Amino acid sequence: MATTLLTQLIKNARNVPSRTFSVSIRRLKEGIAAAQSPLTQLSDDEAAMQETVSRLAKEQILPHVKTMESEKKINDTVLKVLFENGLMGIQTPSEHNGSECNFLTAVLIVEELSKVDPSVGALVDIHNTLVNSVYIRYGNKEQKEKYLPRLCTDMVGSFALTEPSSGSDAFALKTTAKKVGNDYVLNGSKMWISNSDLSGVFLVMANTDTSKGYKGITCFIVDRNTPGFTINKPEDKLGIVASGTCMLTLEDVKVPSSHILGEVGQGYKIAIDILNEGRIGIAAQMLGLAQGCFDATIPYTLERQQFGKSIFSFQGMQYQIAELAVEIEGARLLTYNAARLLETGVPYIKQAAMAKFYASEVAQRATIKCIDWMGGVGFTKDFPQEKFYRDAKIGSIYEGTSNIQLSTIAKAIQRQFSS
Ligand SMILES: Cc1cc2nc3c(=O)[nH]c(=O)nc-3n(C[C@H](O)[C@H](O)[C@H](O)COP(=O)(O)OP(=O)(O)OC[C@H]3O[C@@H](n4cnc5c(N)ncnc54)[C@H](O)[C@@H]3O)c2cc1C
Repeated sequence: MATTLLTQLIKNARNVPSRTFSVSIRRLKEGIAAAQSPLTQLSDDEAAMQETVSRLAKEQILPHVKTMESEKKINDTVLKVLFENGLMGIQTPSEHNGSECNFLTAVLIVEELSKVDPSVGALVDIHNTLVNSVYIRYGNKEQKEKYLPRLCTDMVGSFALTEPSSGSDAFALKTTAKKVGNDYVLNGSKMWISNSDLSGVFLVMANTDTSKGYKGITCFIVDRNTPGFTINKPEDKLGIVASGTCMLTLEDVKVPSSHILGEVGQGYKIAIDILNEGRIGIAAQMLGLAQGCFDATIPYTLERQQFGKSIFSFQGMQYQIAELAVEIEGARLLTYNAARLLETGVPYIKQAAMAKFYASEVAQRATIKCIDWMGGVGFTKDFPQEKFYRDAKIGSIYEGTSNIQLSTIAKAIQRQFSS
């Protein structure tokens, strides 16, 4: 079956440039080989990246977590670590200064970073799986050459779809883009835009022809310093507080036609495509968060003595701990499976929704359990469980709420049984 799929994909890929062709074929072969192995068995490259990022997160990011939390900002030192280690261009081709890794590697990196700080996980995930991926997949030569090298080395990017009156119903957006000569003039506002306190470039979805409804939605590149473009102060949030989330205002923001990413009217397709994939990244963030919280808690349960023995030794505790370990492993398998399906080029949307939904649920349950197992100290800011608990809540909200994931899963089931 794998050979037939590979032959078909090679046939389909005949017309792409030779370098892209050889890279895609290499990745396809890796993906297919991986699809025949146990999900948690990583390739040498994937395992090496996982180990490197795990070490880097503990040694170079962990020392900054408390300060970033109190300052509500990802600091410059951490940003530098991310850029210098190739974590801001994970899948970007090497010709644009990227690390040219596969999608599962992006998932592993987001997981490892989120074990230490889910705010850093959010930054890296959104920058890579939403912003870079749009440029890689839909950008023309000039756009790729201008933006991708900087997105890999020194410039953060944001993806701006949501508006004050359009969240789950994202394509009801009201921001307009009117053609004036060879330019477009954008007016409207965007809400909850991650990384926007730091970003140098924004992918802004705006409607070029409201009479066409969602088919008028187009993706524009808006540089931070464009006149009329305002980044408002970051929202004061419950969790992932170091990840800057701002409202954007666009008042007669003029951009040239060359700043259209993809084609006029293709914005909704780009958003659907990229958010389906991005959801696997959020699943990875929630998985890392759950594992990070668990790993920070178990040693305490082994050491803490009550009634003359460790609290871990009580069967009532062991059953709960084992059950949570099963749930975290389940979230991992769903997440890696969705990533492998995507890499292999077969349908993955239902599995991506399942991974995001389940990992978000597990992350919330894990943090509640871990605080319970720590007792009173778990309720204080002296230990990381309290932050993990607050950070976990975002998983069921952004990149499609849990209800929206369930709708996607239900639609897939309905299609399956109606055909
Ligand atoms: C910290 C943070 C960062 C974010 N980052 C970004 C970003 O970088 N870029 C971006 O574009 N957006 C971003 N968002 C926006 C995010 O994707 C939206 O908040 C999310 O899609 C939900 O939209 P909403 O907040 O308007 O809630 P609503 O859509 O108003 O939903 C409210 C409730 O109604 C439920 N609901 C709505 N419709 C249905 C339905 N059809 N069936 C069942 N239930 C339904 C929802 O599940 C939810 O429980 C971010 C949000 C946050 C909080």
